Amino acid sequence: MTSAEIKRLAKSCGADLVGIAPMDRFEGAPIQMDPRFIMPKAKSMIVMGFRVMRGSLRGIEEGTFFSNYSAMGYGGLTYIYIPMTVMNICRAIEDEGYEAVPLGHQSDWRGIDNQGNLREKYSKAVEEGKPQPDIMLHLRICAYLAGLGEIGYSKMFLTPEFGPRLRIGVVLTEMELEPDPIYDGPQLCNKCMACVKNCPGNAISATKTVKVNLAGHEVEWGELDCDACDIAMRGGEICAEGEIGKYQPGRDDVKPGSHSPFYNKPANVYNSGQAVCGARGCTRACMISMEARGVLGNKFKEPFRTKKLWSVDWSDYEPVEYAGTSLSDLGAHTSKFGERGEKAETNADAKTFKEAD
Ligand code: SF4
Ligand code: SF4
Repeated sequence: MTSAEIKRLAKSCGADLVGIAPMDRFEGAPIQMDPRFIMPKAKSMIVMGFRVMRGSLRGIEEGTFFSNYSAMGYGGLTYIYIPMTVMNICRAIEDEGYEAVPLGHQSDWRGIDNQGNLREKYSKAVEEGKPQPDIMLHLRICAYLAGLGEIGYSKMFLTPEFGPRLRIGVVLTEMELEPDPIYDGPQLCNKCMACVKNCPGNAISATKTVKVNLAGHEVEWGELDCDACDIAMRGGEICAEGEIGKYQPGRDDVKPGSHSPFYNKPANVYNSGQAVCGARGCTRACMISMEARGVLGNKFKEPFRTKKLWSVDWSDYEPVEYAGTSLSDLGAHTSKFGERGEKAETNADAKTFKEAD
């Protein structure tokens, strides 16, 4: 199969964007994030972009329908749509006699925490010199290395077609495919800082940045406070001194933020979907900024935002005990490892990818 045939197949299976990276672009990757430890004989990484519908952000923008983004724009894409696409591509490649690893959602068992530290007493390397299971691919870096776009100041991956409205799926294969160049088109992130100003958790630093060197290219983004994002993306806000908040199961120091209408964080959909914040800063604000600049290929007849952002008045807030909706939901929120924020794949990159000069 040629690269062109793989791309045609991926698009017919549901991918919006497809790029191919040769494995040597991962030279210098940290051991816990190096795909070559998953498949030592891999020759190519096929990276696919799947758009998040702008319509999936509409209900949150209106303040009336919150689950759709978590379901159709997040968990459903991640756990159903992307896995089906990557598995179908792998089937075609394996029919040709080359092994292929389908990577849809791939970080649930990862051996590192949000800061890139090894999770203690979680797993052991099976042999000296190997990473501690599981390896976690940094999907945005994979997409960058396959030429799909840029990593923006917000650390969201930006493409010329959809801006930050994207999720990523990957296939690793022993098949050698013609690679794509690293993206060198018009600059997508203009450092407008709309992401920073609109993040309800102040999770993206306006001043501190992270620089990494990816296949010889210096890439920089704003330092992300994963813990702050974890709370705010679920709609929460840390209580003031002396206050009690029961918004988030397993804690009594989080109350609903003005960007959430819920007394308690609603149940996850498809395991990871709990993005009450609706990616207010990192996706919605960035998308609005990019659409206004006219830099995106996916154009709409009407602007996305037509009125002032709503805000919930919680001055009458009284904690309501979390009743839970299912055991798995409660379990997910009390796990020691915890969960990840909407955009916080990991901060491991900050420490472990070769720091740029
Ligand atoms: S909102 Fe502006 S600064 Fe932030 S990522 Fe998007 S374009 Fe870059
Ligand atoms: S998801 Fe984006 S906008 Fe929401 S808290 Fe996290 S960084 Fe901020």
